[in-house]
Amino acid sequence: MRLSNGEVLLHWPLDIHVLTQGWYYNDGSLHQAVDLRTQIDNMYIRPVYAAEDGTVDQTQDWDGHTRTGMQSYGNMVRIRHADYKSKTLQTRYAHLSSYCVKYGQRVKEGEIIGYSGVTGNVFGAHLHFEVILGGKRTNPLVWLDSNFTTASGQVFTYRAGEHAVQQPEQAASGAQTAQNGTGKLQVITVGPVSQGDADAVFAVCQSRGLTDAGLYKSEWV
Ligand SMILES: [Zn+2]
Repeated sequence: MRLSNGEVLLHWPLDIHVLTQGWYYNDGSLHQAVDLRTQIDNMYIRPVYAAEDGTVDQTQDWDGHTRTGMQSYGNMVRIRHADYKSKTLQTRYAHLSSYCVKYGQRVKEGEIIGYSGVTGNVFGAHLHFEVILGGKRTNPLVWLDSNFTTASGQVFTYRAGEHAVQQPEQAASGAQTAQNGTGKLQVITVGPVSQGDADAVFAVCQSRGLTDAGLYKSEWV
């Protein structure tokens, strides 16, 4: 969506916001996209949503075997959004099991455009998501809100010169006031619980990186 200051805040393309690969692959090489986890238990087919209003400006059907070039995207959809600062803004969704839009179709932000899958050059199920500004791929995370976690537990940091969505003052404080009235992080204290339950909660928070990020603290562990 467009914020009142003209900035773009994109809608997450999946309900699950767990990064399995970031702008750089875990080995340090350049990915120029993010990969989002789709697999939980045996299910990896999940609805994929348009990140913003726009027009489908490219679709691709995977031939079922080629894993190089454009075919490495597998079944793929690209959407062109309204320009950002006079530059073309597009988002790409790859490795889909299927898509349910066609070239030239207008879509709304949050509308289902297809379903995640394992087509193209993939080693495991995930959604490959790109944000393309002026024909160049830019870090998707700087167009999305910070409601995500990383599978590897690495904390995302901006790199020098990266675009970051600046939320207008009014919208930011309005959202915070709606949540807790103070504009500060809310502290929730839970207790008393058994040591076993406390250990189990701590283990979950640790596995999600919440303890590293300082978002979860325990008095006991
Ligand atoms: Zn990828």
